[in-house]
Amino acid sequence: YEAKIRKCGCQLFDPGINDTFQRKLELENELRWAISKNQLHVHYQPQVQAGTGQVEGLEALLRWNHPTLGQVPPSEFIPIAEETGIIMDIGRWVLKEVCSQLAQWHSRTLNVPPIAVNLSARQFKAPDLVASFRDIVNRAPCHPGQIVIEITESSSMNDIDSVLPILHEFKAIGFRIAIDDFGKEYSALGYMKKFPIDILKIDKSFVQELTSDTKSAVITKAIIDMAHGMNLRVIAEGVEYDEQLADLRTMNCDIVQGYLIDPPMSPDMLESRYLTGACFT
Ligand code: C2E
Ligand code: MG
Ligand code: MG
Ligand code: MG
Repeated sequence: YEAKIRKCGCQLFDPGINDTFQRKLELENELRWAISKNQLHVHYQPQVQAGTGQVEGLEALLRWNHPTLGQVPPSEFIPIAEETGIIMDIGRWVLKEVCSQLAQWHSRTLNVPPIAVNLSARQFKAPDLVASFRDIVNRAPCHPGQIVIEITESSSMNDIDSVLPILHEFKAIGFRIAIDDFGKEYSALGYMKKFPIDILKIDKSFVQELTSDTKSAVITKAIIDMAHGMNLRVIAEGVEYDEQLADLRTMNCDIVQGYLIDPPMSPDMLESRYLTGACFT
């Protein structure tokens, strides 16, 4: 019996499991307060024309800066936000933040390209998703055509029947839709003809292997040609090297995004580097 307790205690206090568990619990508790304590920020990464380098869009990427935990990466806290449902509040907060940033830039007559926001699978489950997004955009106010909603294949394909009408409602309001991380997991190409998509984003795993793996290059080219055949714009993400950019240009990729061009950055930095040209129309 003693041995059993000791064994049990031993498992409970296995430092590895315990650390992971504690960390997750701590993040979960802290995440609940992150919005009200002003710990969340939105950074923006430029998406530029592959040919000319002209900025064509921005992607809004969430940052969490905690006073004692420091910068917590989205890869760590977004899954927790999804599991706990906190993503519902966070998702609305991100859109609000993006819309007020857009309204602010516009009021100063800056020429701002469309801004993409990421949508989690869990958000599709909220019955008021479309209505709340419409209200946020109207209240800012900003034009829905300035917002691109990025969904992933995995978030949308498990449940095509319920996701499809939501996408059509988004489109009716004027939002644009992008498929993010295309090719990362599974691609059941059938949905491509059903979904009202405007933009296809090639997953960075293909871009990273573009110059080293012939198969990745062949698939990337095929994805670009297919997307163009369907009148979609193609964005390659994770572009880090000149050789990758050169290959993507040869393949007629429309837009590139990645550290080679610029990393995600604060709104002030983004503005000074990309939005200096005033628009007087
Ligand atoms: P994502 O939507 O695919 O965003 C692109 C990720 O690639 C970002 O990571 C970006 O910083 C990173 N990235 C950009 N250029 C490069 C590059 O050249 N090389 C490499 N290796 N990476 C690059 P980040 O900001 O850490 O975000 C990770 C993921 O977290 C995002 O992937 C997205 O799925 C999720 N996420 C971020 N912000 C939000 C949000 O506001 N809402 C939701 N639901 N998810 C978000
Ligand atoms: Mg994205
Ligand atoms: Mg992506
Ligand atoms: Mg992703």
